[in-house]
Amino acid sequence: MIKIFNTETLSLETFKPIEEGKVRMYVCGPTVYNLIHIGNARPMIVFDTVRRYFEYRGYQVNYVSNFTDVDDKIIKKAQEEGVDASVISERYIKECKKDMADLNVRPATTHPQATKEIPGMIEMIQSLIDKGYAYVVDDGTVYFSVRKDRQYGKLSHKNLDDLQFNMRGIAVSGEDQKQDPLDFVLWKPKKEGEPFWESPWCEGRPGWHIECSVMSKRYLGDTIDIHAGGEDLIFPHHENEIAQSESANGEPFVHYWMHNAFLNIDNHKMSKSLGNFKTVREIDAAYDPQVLRLLMLSAHYRSPLNFSAALMDSAKASYERITSCMNNLNFVLQGAKDEPLSDKEQESLQAADAFRVSFEKHMDDDFNTADALSDIFDLVRFVNTNADAAHSKAYLEALKKELSTLTDVLGLIADRSASVQDEDAAWIEAKIKERAACKKAKDYARADAIRKECQERGFTLMDTKEGTKWEKN
Ligand code: AMP
Ligand code: ZN
Repeated sequence: MIKIFNTETLSLETFKPIEEGKVRMYVCGPTVYNLIHIGNARPMIVFDTVRRYFEYRGYQVNYVSNFTDVDDKIIKKAQEEGVDASVISERYIKECKKDMADLNVRPATTHPQATKEIPGMIEMIQSLIDKGYAYVVDDGTVYFSVRKDRQYGKLSHKNLDDLQFNMRGIAVSGEDQKQDPLDFVLWKPKKEGEPFWESPWCEGRPGWHIECSVMSKRYLGDTIDIHAGGEDLIFPHHENEIAQSESANGEPFVHYWMHNAFLNIDNHKMSKSLGNFKTVREIDAAYDPQVLRLLMLSAHYRSPLNFSAALMDSAKASYERITSCMNNLNFVLQGAKDEPLSDKEQESLQAADAFRVSFEKHMDDDFNTADALSDIFDLVRFVNTNADAAHSKAYLEALKKELSTLTDVLGLIADRSASVQDEDAAWIEAKIKERAACKKAKDYARADAIRKECQERGFTLMDTKEGTKWEKN
């Protein structure tokens, strides 16, 4: 049984899918006007792991994550560069997908884009107007009337009168014609030089919140299992999504709301506007992106994580413990005997199974990846002490499978050699043989040159008492 902490009820709830064996999941994606920073990568990695765990548990996951490709910041950047807004958004969608692939974040089942969903947005806005939840003012702006939604505030646990009190400083200005300061924009008129679409109210563009209500409905249905994003989205974005979707559809919108805490730097939220961010690309230049993935999963997703170089270095050492364990396994497997499992080996595998059981217990508990990672390190320790060349192939293969399966649930690549092309592997094996012959002939200069050649091609050679091993850098 998987338990999820639901932001709406503020409690841990047992997951019950709408449809047996299936999960409908929507994750708010980035606004694409720049390279993503590692704070943006946190929800991507966290919810990709949630998806992987559901799949491991046998669910089929329909995973939808949008790209916000029309927005003030995109338009501003397009104007600065003198290009169309779509040039900017398409460029950064491509870059974002590259970062996701580097972080081993799988592509969503569908990645909708706001600009390609305008007819659906117009339809939902019209239905909100028809039902009396929204109104049009003179300049063609359409507002959602927050006080018409009796449940508004249920996700962020805000009270309308408190909100009103906090907004007294931004009482209705001359610029807008809101009936109430709480109301939010569904559609707004175009400004000079901005992208726009025809609509029944004016030539203009959608407000931000409506896209997620529309895409979620289109790709997943009126009611979905899980809606997720960073905790900054709880209010107003997700609160407004609920108001729009439930008022338009007359159905509950989301069963479980999940929100990740911030990735901080010097205890402040990492964000573009504060300028205290590091892009995924910068981190990738200095570390294997897998190190960043491991760092993100080393804390519970609902706990803030304070990014630092020291933390990255410690995550790097942890990741290397996993890859070198796998390398060792691969190495001993090469010379392993093709024999059936002995009784002792069978017993040992049963003991190793305890790590998987504990891993599942932790992941079932609101995706506690921090403790699930500890289980993986316990398994690594177990493999390091138990897997040697004296064992049967079947035993070593079973341990390898256990380690691969659990690391794969977290999206961590344990077996770096598996991603190496066959021809590279054959090349490096030949080099190791050649180097061994050089050493035997006491031609150490040539042996060193071969090591250097391997390094340049991206492989490190390690001399151990069992022979020379290699690792992809
Ligand atoms: P944005 O492009 O700002 O709309 O953000 C895209 C996603 O990244 C949203 O789910 C945000 O909540 C999330 N996000 C942005 N900054 C951070 C951060 N510093 N830590 C964690 N999540 C973040
Ligand atoms: Zn959204």
